Amino acid sequence: MSVPGLNLTAESLRHAFRQWDGVLSQQLALKSGGFGLGQVPERLAPDATTTSVCGFCSTGCGLNIHFRNGEAINLTASTDYPVNLGMACPKGWEALNVLHAPDRATRPLLRDAQGAMRPVTWDHAMREFTSRFKDIQNHHGADSLAWIGSGQLPTEELALLGAVAKFGMGIEHGDGNTRQCMATAATAYKQSFGFDAPPFTYADFEASDALIFFGANPCIAHPILWERVLRNKNNPAIVVIDPRKTETAQAATLHLALKPKADLELLYGIARILFHNGWIDASFVERHTGGFAEFKAFVAPFTLERTAQATGISAEQLTAFAQLIHERKRVSFWWTMGVNQSHQGTRTAQAIINLALMTGNIGRPGTGANSITGQCNAMGSRIFSNTTNLFGGRDFTKQADREDVAELLHLDSSRIPTRNSWAYNEIIDGVRSGVVKGLWIFGTNSAHSWINQNDFMELAKKLEFLVVQDMYHTTDTAKLAHLVLPAAGWGEKEGTFINSERRIGLLKKVARAPGEALSDFYISKLAAHYWGCGDLFQEWKDPESVFRILQRLSRGRPCDITGIGGYAMLDRRGGVQWPCAEGTDLSVNERRLFEDGKFFTEDQRARFIFDAPTAAPELTDDAYPFSLLTGRGTSAQWHTGTRTSKSATLRSLYPKNLYVEIHPEDAAALNILDGGDVEVSSRRGTLTARAVLTPMIQRGQVFLPMHYPEVNRLTASVFDPHSKQPSYKTGAVALHKATAARSRQELTHG
Ligand code: SF4
Repeated sequence: MSVPGLNLTAESLRHAFRQWDGVLSQQLALKSGGFGLGQVPERLAPDATTTSVCGFCSTGCGLNIHFRNGEAINLTASTDYPVNLGMACPKGWEALNVLHAPDRATRPLLRDAQGAMRPVTWDHAMREFTSRFKDIQNHHGADSLAWIGSGQLPTEELALLGAVAKFGMGIEHGDGNTRQCMATAATAYKQSFGFDAPPFTYADFEASDALIFFGANPCIAHPILWERVLRNKNNPAIVVIDPRKTETAQAATLHLALKPKADLELLYGIARILFHNGWIDASFVERHTGGFAEFKAFVAPFTLERTAQATGISAEQLTAFAQLIHERKRVSFWWTMGVNQSHQGTRTAQAIINLALMTGNIGRPGTGANSITGQCNAMGSRIFSNTTNLFGGRDFTKQADREDVAELLHLDSSRIPTRNSWAYNEIIDGVRSGVVKGLWIFGTNSAHSWINQNDFMELAKKLEFLVVQDMYHTTDTAKLAHLVLPAAGWGEKEGTFINSERRIGLLKKVARAPGEALSDFYISKLAAHYWGCGDLFQEWKDPESVFRILQRLSRGRPCDITGIGGYAMLDRRGGVQWPCAEGTDLSVNERRLFEDGKFFTEDQRARFIFDAPTAAPELTDDAYPFSLLTGRGTSAQWHTGTRTSKSATLRSLYPKNLYVEIHPEDAAALNILDGGDVEVSSRRGTLTARAVLTPMIQRGQVFLPMHYPEVNRLTASVFDPHSKQPSYKTGAVALHKATAARSRQELTHG
């Protein structure tokens, strides 16, 4: 028996086909032009149009995909999808085009004894994968293997991988790159609300009469959500709290340009002003919260004078801000990475939540303490990836939770680990200490994106076996791998994403993956088969089968999705928000949480949680006198640019070379010219960037866009102690005009 282009042995194929109930065999039989599995193109008329959701950011826009002669040739933004209402940002418009690139991974690649990457068959790759990982595990124990996943993958793929790795392969440590963006919000919500539950719906952007953005720049990072703000007919106040005068700050009615990392002082100071003036919703606080009196006592020392001193914002502006919160009827508080990626991010997020609770701005239209997510499926990863939470937001350390999951999955409960996984930074520390020797990274580019890059690169060399599963074989991380597994991308597979407003949207296969690339779903099936645990996952046949399993796992949980009638219903309704228990009235397709004032804690009360502010671990000094800010550069760039750099259209919309924003007066003092080359150094490394002189940045600060590979040479290994999220916004750097001999590198990433 042979399948063209796939050199599995006949015996292993026959066994695999039996294991997978024929699904894979049918799919492989289709394959001479590509292995990305799924059926959508075959079901469609040659010139049809179908729908899907975008696979870049967490906005979760609906897209119409248009076919000609059976091939997806173009797309348009869906006009009737409740998220984007006919709009899309540049990345979404180019979603199909980034699939075509000469550096797509099309065959498994294995590093040979001379260090060169050689193409091998899937059979060879999976035998190597299994023997190397099993060898490490047998010699060094359960902690010696780990994986890092991605919020870019559909929920079903994350769930299958989490189940196969933990319950089948005995790999106990796995985390997602969502640790880099959303761990803080998830931790804050869990502690304050009893579950990781962003409360809002996008309609709240249009219903507020005051929108307060903390460390968020939606004009660039979430442009369609900003469009929703612009549709607001209430003449809302728009307040931006950010050290930088970002594009959003320039459009705001009030910009509070606080000192870097002074957010917590600001929030406690504002809370004190609200207390002092009696601007509190006492009835809401009394009925629905706990810890209020303690919080009131805690913020008493955060006087107006102290807050003005700590934040650099005048007493008049602070008072005006608090008064605005008091006077407006529907105040919504929004935050993103400026809060999450901080050394005290969790407490900062909770200080925002505290403001919403004390003023009763939650559970009503236009209100809420609202974390905007980053990646397209960060929310799916948070709830269903089986990494640091057991499925459905359960806890590995609780016997009742383990038994519950074991029964629902027809598993022996002894297969479920009794401890929580290490977080991403703890896995990296495991590599440092020599405990973790084998690492499986999929759908993320750690060598670019992980904090303190030189440290990561050194540690990666310690790994005995690094497997990288990706669409492209040229990513910074794939170049370090011992084995590269070629993966299908967005549009080449099926599944669901959960967006920022908890909406589950349907992703469809509209193109074939190139060469022998497989969806991450079927790579996990292969891994289970070759590991010898495929029998455990017979029911996990295809993405929709897994969706039904997840529905079962969600029953009775805050994220209950048992009321969703499968993929067809998601498609028909333009996505469905969780929770959606059986019997949920779906006549309204935009729902917010906590309208009844009941939270997910045992006593159904939200908690006021607070802690003393701490200084950032790395402060400026004479040697490194500038505060480093990092963030998104343009709406045409996505994270490390592995996909967006493949589009000529997108490349034309962002600077080719790394640039650094500097205040003109700082530049003048250092004899740095606009457009000239600048060396930016931290205690960890140096890079060269083109100077952009702009008053968007305050004196004493510089800004670097995160999309260029050198930027994390400068960042420090600093983490929030509660969420373990990296603090990309903390650091001190020095600037020097570059000498001609060290002129800037020509970069092609973006
Ligand atoms: Fe919408 Fe985000 Fe996709 Fe842009 S990247 S089209 S904002 S989902």
